[in-house]
Parts: sequence; C-alpha cells; structure tokens
Amino acid sequence: MTTKGEAPVILWFRHDLRLADNPALNQAHATGRAIVPVYIHDEGSAVRPAGGASLWWLDKSLRALSASIGERGGRLILRRGDSEAELRRLIEETGAESVFMNRLFEPDASTRDSDIAHGLKAEGVECRGFNGSLLCRPGGVLNGSGGPYKVFTPFMKTLRAQAEPPAHTTGPRDLSGAPRLDSDRIDDWGLHPSRPDWSGGFDWTPGEAGAVEALQTFIGRGLKTYSKGRDHPAEPGASRLSPHLHWGEISPSRVWSAVVAAGEAGKVPAAEAEKFIAEIGWREFSAHLLHHFPALPERAFRPEYDDFPWLTDRKGFDAWTKGLTGYPIVDAGMRQLWVTGWMHNRVRMIVASFLIKDLLIDWRKGEAWFWDTLVDADLASNAQNWQWVAGSGADASPYFRIFNPVSQGERFDKDGDYVRKWVPELAKTPAKWIHAPWTAPAEVLREAGVTLGDTYPKPIVDHAMARDRALAALKEVSGRG
Ligand code: FAD
Repeated sequence: MTTKGEAPVILWFRHDLRLADNPALNQAHATGRAIVPVYIHDEGSAVRPAGGASLWWLDKSLRALSASIGERGGRLILRRGDSEAELRRLIEETGAESVFMNRLFEPDASTRDSDIAHGLKAEGVECRGFNGSLLCRPGGVLNGSGGPYKVFTPFMKTLRAQAEPPAHTTGPRDLSGAPRLDSDRIDDWGLHPSRPDWSGGFDWTPGEAGAVEALQTFIGRGLKTYSKGRDHPAEPGASRLSPHLHWGEISPSRVWSAVVAAGEAGKVPAAEAEKFIAEIGWREFSAHLLHHFPALPERAFRPEYDDFPWLTDRKGFDAWTKGLTGYPIVDAGMRQLWVTGWMHNRVRMIVASFLIKDLLIDWRKGEAWFWDTLVDADLASNAQNWQWVAGSGADASPYFRIFNPVSQGERFDKDGDYVRKWVPELAKTPAKWIHAPWTAPAEVLREAGVTLGDTYPKPIVDHAMARDRALAALKEVSGRG
C-alpha cells in the first residue's frame, strides 16, 4: 500500500551520491511515503570547504545523480546555503515530518548534524542517520579494553571479523510523487572551474555508473596482480576508485564483497584480493583515527612533532607544487596531480617524503595542497597519510626512514615510462639516467635535448645533505617524546 499522499520524507544526500546500496534511501522508501531527494551546497564553517578538484567532481557527480533520479521519475532538489536553514525551509515547503540521511563521520560535520537533528526533533521532525560510507562506523571497532586501536594490523583483524557487508540493493525503481519544489540550477553554482578552466586533463567519469565501471574494469584487469602492480605508477595496477568512494558513488561494502567474491571464486588469487581488502581497511582505519583524534588534520598525533623545526621555504614549496624540483619522479607525480586531479599512491609517498624530509616543510602545507588538487581529497585519509609519511602519526612510517627519490624512481619506474609521460622534457633521456639526469654524461644529455638549469631544473636540494639535515632535526624532537 502506498502512502504517497502523506507527508514526504526528505532524503538529504551528501557523500552518498548513489541510488544503489544506499541505506538512507532504502529506509526512506520503506516508509512508503514520497521521497524528496535534496543536495545542499553548504560552504559554512562546519565542514572544511571542498578544494577546486573536489568541486569539479561534485559538479559532475550531482549531474549524474540528478539524471538517475530523473530516470526513476523523481527530481533532485538543489539548494545552496546553511544546511539547517535550508532543511527547515524544505520542511516548511513540503510538510515533511522526517529527514533521512547517511551520516558524515568527520567530527565537525558530525557535530553539526547532531545539532540539526536535536533541533528538528524538538519540533517534532524525525531525523534518522545511517552508515552508508564505511564498513564499520567509527567507534564501532574497539580493542579488548574498549579503546581505539592505534595500530593498523589488529584494527584490521577486528574489522575483518566484524564487517558484514549487507546484500546488494539497487534502490527504489519509482521515485515519483514528491511535491513540486524550486531547485537551484547547478550551472549557477559555478563548481566547474573557469578563468582558467584547468581541468582539461581530468579523465574521469564521476557518478554511480562510472564507479561501477571502474570496479568491474579493475576486477577484470588489475586485481589479479594488485600487490605488485599497485606499486608501479606507469602501470594501470590500482583501481582508481578513491574519488568514487569518497563521494559515495559506490559503497565500500559493494567493493569489498565483489573483491572477496572474485577471490573466493578463484577468478583472482586470494592473496591479491586480500591485499586490496587491506587497502580498503586503511580507508576505514583513517576514518576511525579521525573519529577518535579529531585534531588529526591540524595537530601531530605524536605531540612532540608539533615542535619540529620546519623551514619556511617558499621557493622550495613553489617548485614542489609546480613539479620543478629537479627530481624527476617527484616532478612527474606533482604534474600528474595537477593535470589529472589524482596521483599514484607510491608517488604520493615519495612526493610527501620529499616535501617533509628533503625540504623540511611542514606536512600541513602539503596536506593543504593535496586537499585543493586531489579529486579524492578526504579529510581522514589525507591527514592520516600525511602524518604516516611525516612519522608523526599513529602506526606511522618512522621519521628516520627517508625515501631516496632517485632509488625510489629506479625501483618503481625502472624504464622511466612514468617520468617520460609527465615530464616530457626528459622523454628522450635513457632509462639509466632518467631518475638522476645530473649524473648523465654531457653527451647523453645533449642527445636527449636536455640542458639542466634551462630545459629542466637542477635538483633544488642535495638529497644526501637534506637527509643528514632531516635526521639532525629529528634528534631535536625525539628526546621530547
Ligand atoms: P587502490 O590501490 O586501488 O586502493 C583501493 C582503495 O583503498 C582506494 O580507493 C582508497 O579508498 C583505499 N586506500 C588505498 N590506500 C589507502 C591509504 N594509504 N589510506 C587510505 N585509504 C587507502 N586517499 C584518499 O582517498 N584521499 C586522500 O586525500 C588521500 N591522501 C593521501 C595523501 C598521501 C600523502 C598519501 C601517501 C596517500 C593518500 N591517500 C589518499 C591514499 C592513497 O594514495 C589513495 O587512496 C590511492 O592512491 C587511491 O588510488 P586507488 O583508488 O587506485 O587505490
């Protein structure tokens, strides 16, 4: 029996831009009432404003969601402004008595949502939150003494035992019946960059269909050799699911279940499926850490690192952001990031180590740059990983483990194909010298058309000196821990 004549349910979309496997949508549908799907573009202080690359993604993802809802007879309502004020307006316009949403787990957003829920509840409007973005809600995976895990491996073991991915659902077929409401036009939001439009190299298909396609392509291709392939940036060995997961265009449960099933069916070696599942686990671990340590994006998890003697090196930072450090693997990564909005994980670690340990620049500056330029910029994963590289995080790589950008390049981009792609001025440099062109004989450089300091920079810092300097700086803080 349909009760569409009754007060509708407002379905508040946020980082769950999908119709499949969407618990809030399924529960709203289960009420039998009409559903008013809404997205509110709130740039207020409760959440860190999205960076440029994220806004590019949001623009396309909302268009895709809007089209999918339209195909099912509904209409996505777009509003801009303070979340609570816009929700109240919508409640008034529709007479809705309930608001359903998938919860945001970033601490500030979560507090804001609780405040909204309490306020609305006091006025008789039911607010219900669900978990649509993580396998286990943060706070739900605890150690034997009821505290948060600070080390990944035991966290993962408990998560593995606890996670019970729900059965796949496709969402309601009919989303018609909602009252007619005004909606903003997405074109008026200006999310797509202009003046200049720097997104020409963004080769992505945002939206639910693009997410499912990325998963299927990965299972058919990269998954069977994932543990090795994921470390070689010239190869398509990783899933590139990160922005889809961040925006909730696909649920982690669906990704998890599909990968486990591929392993169990023998379509891919079980060990490869497990390795991938562990990476999904790192996403969960990051959210878990941010939940228990809300200052993670601003403060060192190990407080002694907050006194680290960072340098203010504007020229060095500028060269790093532009991919002009003179270290080819670092420059290739930074240019891949700028051009495509994404960077390979191995190279993220190398460029982050270079910023922190070779240039002695505060990890927070790097975190902020990634926040603005990554299509998958995620408060928890970005902060957790920057602190992992810095050595200041929970279960982090020790600070004294300093990546050598030359040997990392030689090991993980042996033939230099990744560098050739992103640093075309080195394209003709033989593999033997491509990761350290300053060591190449003059004749080799001449033949490759490379003039150091002219067509390509000389290294902006000597790695051996920088390494000693970083270790000396570490000594200063390590006695305080
Ligand atoms: P795959 O190798 O295919 O992994 C599958 C999924 O697992 C990813 O989509 C992601 O959701 C998750 N995952 C993999 N590695 C990690 C990890 N180390 N930490 C957390 N989750 C992981 N990832 C983000 O999603 N957002 C960020 O803002 C972000 N910032 C980072 C900053 C630094 C300095 C570093 C070193 C890593 C960062 N990562 C971040 C983690 C990782 O680099 C990306 O998740 C990964 O490169 C995305 O590509 P993929 O989807 O092909 O990964």
